[in-house]
Amino acid sequence: MITAILASQNKKKIKEIRDILLKYDMDVITRDDAGLPKDDIEETGTTFEENSLLKADAIMDMIKADQSLSEKYGNSPVIADDSGLMVDALGGAPGVHSARYAGEDCNFDANNEKLLSELSGVPDDKRTAHFVTVITMIYPDGEKIVARGECRGHITAEKRGEGGFGYDPVFIPEGYDKTFAQLGTDFKNTISHRARALEELEKILDK
Ligand code: IMP
Repeated sequence: MITAILASQNKKKIKEIRDILLKYDMDVITRDDAGLPKDDIEETGTTFEENSLLKADAIMDMIKADQSLSEKYGNSPVIADDSGLMVDALGGAPGVHSARYAGEDCNFDANNEKLLSELSGVPDDKRTAHFVTVITMIYPDGEKIVARGECRGHITAEKRGEGGFGYDPVFIPEGYDKTFAQLGTDFKNTISHRARALEELEKILDK
């Protein structure tokens, strides 16, 4: 069984990724649980691919820079993901700025309010959007795997449901009439952008 170090710190997302990776018999430990430095990793990339690689590289560098960490995790791959929501009527925004759409210290509610206000007056058929996840897995020898997953849908006129996180209360996946927040995490995990990126990752790992 491989033990991978996960770069993410978002608790709900860690649960989603861990639940899915466990199905593929992969042991996952977060960077906090691995005792890595808590330094912020700046996400300066302009694409999800760039940002996920940047995070994975930073974690790998932290392991290599510390003797006791490299003794423990020197053979571990590092997995980082970067996700976001791309809204067609907003030219792909919030995109890589999804986490801080409403400002530096904003919360999920503020982001949803800003999104709904930017889309006010936009008719239903023009409210199309998709979530994207890019997962990058790097090995200590420099080998790199990149997997991308998308989930298409549309943005509601108001928030619906209490579950999930982020933009879940305003996103209805294609083929459904409930938001991700109403559909619940277990179901969301079967169709989400992250689930699809993980399926893609598994396909690549199989090869
Ligand atoms: P991250 O790169 O995965 O941390 O995602 C960046 C931001 O995108 C998050 O803070 C959320 O606002 C949004 N986001 C990513 N994935 C999801 C999701 O599954 N549901 C709702 N919002 C998400």
